[in-house]
Amino acid sequence: MQEIIDAHTHLSERGDDGLNRLARQNGLRYTLDELLDTMRRHEIVRALLLSPPLQGGGPLPNDEVIRLCRKSEGMLAPVITVEPTAKEVKAAIKLAEEDRKEVKAFKVRLGYVKTGAESPVFDRLYDYAESEALPVMFHTGDTAFSTGELARSHPLTLDGLANKREELIIILCHFGNPWFEDVAELIYKHPNVYADISGLIIGGAYAEKYAEWLAKKISEAIYFAAGAQKVIFGTDYPVTKHSETLNLVRRLDVDESDKEKILRHNAERVFRL
Ligand SMILES: [Zn+2]
Repeated sequence: MQEIIDAHTHLSERGDDGLNRLARQNGLRYTLDELLDTMRRHEIVRALLLSPPLQGGGPLPNDEVIRLCRKSEGMLAPVITVEPTAKEVKAAIKLAEEDRKEVKAFKVRLGYVKTGAESPVFDRLYDYAESEALPVMFHTGDTAFSTGELARSHPLTLDGLANKREELIIILCHFGNPWFEDVAELIYKHPNVYADISGLIIGGAYAEKYAEWLAKKISEAIYFAAGAQKVIFGTDYPVTKHSETLNLVRRLDVDESDKEKILRHNAERVFRL
């Protein structure tokens, strides 16, 4: 298999990490060593690291994400999570400025924060992201907690933003799960909109049927968008295991060249890795 890029992982090594429960369910230790070992085993040469949610509801502070990336010997690169206040937006831009070479993108937690993507609070962030060609990743679709707000995380809420800001590189995380068709339309319609396939695998009853159904849905989205040039591989570790998301790509009924785009080339181009 070719060398792979994972555009969506989480880590904190903290007891109050909101993803510890999911990590345990997946039989993962959820540590830096485990993540790097697993990456090497699957020939994943680089991964983007995003804040996990903490038990209090907020994200892990960005400087801790940067610290973990620095311990990874170049295998992990930070994504700065931006909460919807003027102060947080300013701090995020400052961090990105200071760590210009390292920071690869921003992340907005739609559905978890009480703000939509088009809120003016993000204007400065989008201006900066456009000027530096730094992608903004948006959580879309299903939320990890039952209190999430789907009306704000629905992928179609990004259509207006993509219309207004044609220079902004927008990445829809989790392919808008379960609104795959809406995401197919968005990546087809907008030259500046992409989607990652992270965090889509679930276990439990019908796991095998679901995996089949999911591969069909993503394949169909690729047919609709006339190719996989907008689809990006990500695991959402520890939400899904690496092997599971790699199996999803293997199951896609698309050309090998499209699989290569998904596993590496799209991320390389979009995040300038
Ligand atoms: Zn995630």
